[in-house]
Amino acid sequence: MLILHKNNNINGLMDADAIIIGAGACGLMCAVQAGYLGRRVILLEKNEQPGAKILISGGGRCNYTNLFATDEQFISGNKHFVKSAFTQWTVADTISFFETYGINGREKTLGQLFPESNNARDIVAVFTSLCEDLGQQLICGVSITDIDILEDGFAVKYDKGPKSRILKAPKLVIATGGLPIPKMGATDFALRFARKQGLKIAETAPALVPLTITGKEEDWYARLSGNSVFCRVSNEHIAFEENILFTHWGLSGPAILQISSYWKRGEVFNIDLLPGQNITALLEEERKQNGKSLLSTFFNHLYPKKFTDAMARFLPVEKQVASLTRAEMEQIAQIIHQFKVKPAGDKGYDKAEVMRGGIDTSELSSKTLECKKIPGLYFGGECVDVTGWLGGYNFQWAWASGFVIADNL
Ligand SMILES: Cc1cc2nc3c(=O)[nH]c(=O)nc-3n(C[C@H](O)[C@H](O)[C@H](O)COP(=O)(O)OP(=O)(O)OC[C@H]3O[C@@H](n4cnc5c(N)ncnc54)[C@H](O)[C@@H]3O)c2cc1C
Repeated sequence: MLILHKNNNINGLMDADAIIIGAGACGLMCAVQAGYLGRRVILLEKNEQPGAKILISGGGRCNYTNLFATDEQFISGNKHFVKSAFTQWTVADTISFFETYGINGREKTLGQLFPESNNARDIVAVFTSLCEDLGQQLICGVSITDIDILEDGFAVKYDKGPKSRILKAPKLVIATGGLPIPKMGATDFALRFARKQGLKIAETAPALVPLTITGKEEDWYARLSGNSVFCRVSNEHIAFEENILFTHWGLSGPAILQISSYWKRGEVFNIDLLPGQNITALLEEERKQNGKSLLSTFFNHLYPKKFTDAMARFLPVEKQVASLTRAEMEQIAQIIHQFKVKPAGDKGYDKAEVMRGGIDTSELSSKTLECKKIPGLYFGGECVDVTGWLGGYNFQWAWASGFVIADNL
């Protein structure tokens, strides 16, 4: 049993020290940490089970943090906002928290940490068993119908099946996540509630999302569907070196998901199809060594064959390398190092991993995540205007914000 300082002094009119709405990554961490501190919370969850997004994360394996996470990999209206939370709850804290409960991390790539078991269920199980041990009450399958702000706290009304109930607590935590994957229970609850209270919302949009290509370009991309190429994808804000994946409707793959968080409709971004190398220098060398070879043969050493075939649209792939003119060499360099893409749009919240925007950080204390205008009200996790890169960063924010809130309940 892990009960440390169980608080039995809850005011008779109150049902708990705090009510947490949303039993996802942030809400679960908050409940557990509050339990360690002797605070009794009630977690209200819409789904029949907690942690739905944890279960599907990282392809069911849950990339639960990133070894290199700092405040630099987060997008927010206030780039300094996450600093306090990340000082209070570090990556090392995440790692040792899970190790304490038998989950050792294994780095896959670029600092991305997954449980050794490769099973996201193990992560959720840590929280469900700790909630039970700590006496934190988890009520699933609820529908919140109203929230009243009282003089001494909050009254949350909810339905569960045919029954309605009102719970009261001096503190209220909203950890209902973002808009992606509505079929998994995602709602705009936090945004609606915040708007109703007159709180500012930073404009929301799907992020870490595949991008679509339509019009006369569409066929070209569709023909390359299934092919993956290591690239440097960049715009005026940022650059990412990872794979891109061609699909029958456009582009996906880690580098595209990353840039999507920095992309707005109508903008063009750049793809360097041979990052860290110079195609002109490679071709000059090829001219000397093997000038009679075709450009297509040369490309086949660098790219999937289908990609070389598709390059015929832009480049004289059936010409011998030695006979390429200066203008053709320049054109090749242009296409390979500065391939321009203007997506038509994105695949929306059905396919996005996170939501950009959310509760404006100016409404919250960065130290406690308490709402400045409504004392006792806290927002944590994805519903706040903090969006991490792909690779475990978003969970690091969810854990950190849950911890920080718990520390202040
Ligand atoms: C396919 C996919 C894969 C991902 N993989 C990763 C990954 O590997 N690594 C990573 O760092 N991030 C990943 N993410 C992002 C990560 O899942 C989220 O950033 C993180 O779960 C946010 O935590 P949260 O607690 O704020 O919200 P959530 O984990 O979404 O939890 C919110 C909870 O609130 C509940 N809820 C919503 N509305 C209500 C309501 N009205 N009443 C009661 N309850 C409600 C939801 O059912 C949910 O349980 C992935 C996301 C997706 C969609």
